[in-house]
Amino acid sequence: MNNRPAAPNVIVIGAGAAGMVAAAEAALRGAVVTLLEKNSKTGVKILMSGGTRCNITQDTDARGIVAAFGRSGRFLQKSVGAFGPSDVVKMFHDAGVATKIESTGKIFPESNRAIHVRDALHRRAIQSGVTIRLQQAVQRVQRSADRWIVHTDSDSISCDRLIVTAGGKSWPGCGTTGDAYAWLHQLGHTIVRTRPALVPLVGGYQWSHALSGLTLDDCIASVYSRADWENKPPSKRKPLVSRRSSWLFTHLGFSGPAAMDVSGTITAANDFDAVKLMVDLAPEISTQQIEQALADRSGGGRRSVTSVLGEWLPNRLAESIVQAHAADLPLAELPRDRLQALVAGIKSAEFPVQGTRGFAKAEVTAGGVKLSEVDPRTMHSRIADGLYIAGEVLDVDGWIGGYNFQAAFSTGRAAGIAASQV
Ligand SMILES: Cc1cc2nc3c(=O)[nH]c(=O)nc-3n(C[C@H](O)[C@H](O)[C@H](O)COP(=O)(O)OP(=O)(O)OC[C@H]3O[C@@H](n4cnc5c(N)ncnc54)[C@H](O)[C@@H]3O)c2cc1C
Repeated sequence: MNNRPAAPNVIVIGAGAAGMVAAAEAALRGAVVTLLEKNSKTGVKILMSGGTRCNITQDTDARGIVAAFGRSGRFLQKSVGAFGPSDVVKMFHDAGVATKIESTGKIFPESNRAIHVRDALHRRAIQSGVTIRLQQAVQRVQRSADRWIVHTDSDSISCDRLIVTAGGKSWPGCGTTGDAYAWLHQLGHTIVRTRPALVPLVGGYQWSHALSGLTLDDCIASVYSRADWENKPPSKRKPLVSRRSSWLFTHLGFSGPAAMDVSGTITAANDFDAVKLMVDLAPEISTQQIEQALADRSGGGRRSVTSVLGEWLPNRLAESIVQAHAADLPLAELPRDRLQALVAGIKSAEFPVQGTRGFAKAEVTAGGVKLSEVDPRTMHSRIADGLYIAGEVLDVDGWIGGYNFQAAFSTGRAAGIAASQV
């Protein structure tokens, strides 16, 4: 007689990045796995990610990934340490997807096609023995004796272990409407206030809106607490966050990696007025260099301010800054206070922020399941036995650059392995 305990029956809810990896890993280790997805296809968000190219991870090590998640990075140390960027790349290579590293460190499929990433994860799950059931929108989950019962809109299925990888609530058209927060809250989990992150900002001035479409390849966006800014001497002011990357002016405000990376810190403030967005629009040149160039009267000082600034800034931006801070005077006629305002307008431009484009345009959801309620090694809930939680539904959000998929793959894998243990 075979006394070996039976392989666990596992249901995974949500066939995104975390769910497909979790399901495959559990099935590879002998679990009987069903993956439920509300959409009519798997990985809808993967398909549209990275401008349909899917930036799968970043060319760094586990430490570099963890650093991109701020305070929640600590939670990721174990899972990313066990399955880091090079493991993700290997997983895709083994699944037939060649990858390439771009100059920004972002790693993409060599084909530039997100569908190859999605197909590889889907195929890997099927080949591992996972049963994928599409158009199964889970309505609620229930603990009954030592089993889980999952109620979809058309069925009720039970299992020994449940993995929740239903994502956050950003880009709801992808199926991510934050459904899992309610079930997990009902089971006793704390849901940290959810808010949009990696989201375009609404704000700026008429002149900055008129620059819509203009990209700066290099700028530094920083967010300060307004109280700190107003009450501390300049040498004591420390930004809450600072990111150097490209910047895009839009007709409503700002986008591009630098603006989006700092957006989560802005939405963390209860009141947008409590923070200040300051941008160094030309990090490559120093304040002194600009001052010197504007004070240079050689040649009779007849050069216009715009033409001087045009050496470092795109012409449209130089013209707008000059109009906002000083008339386009010859250098010889530029008063000292205007000169200083111009320099400040370039090196520490303050842009008012009225809001964001919201969850509809947020690449990730900040907030979610409180991390102290989940074991970082196994993703096992510390609240409910047999429950595992992975991916963006957790209170983790990282920079743009493949970090968020990396976190989904690492936490998904940890959950799949742990849920398969007999
Ligand atoms: C436009 C855009 C571009 C992005 N580009 C990148 C990028 O290039 N690189 C990067 O690292 N990150 C990127 N991200 C972020 C990244 O997509 C997410 O962080 C990642 O998908 C999270 O993985 P997940 O598996 O936790 O959740 P998801 O991938 O969101 O998957 C959750 C799944 O659960 C399903 N689901 C939800 N509720 C239910 C329910 N009730 N019943 C059944 N199924 C349900 C959903 O339909 C979905 O398929 C991008 C995000 C967006 C919106």
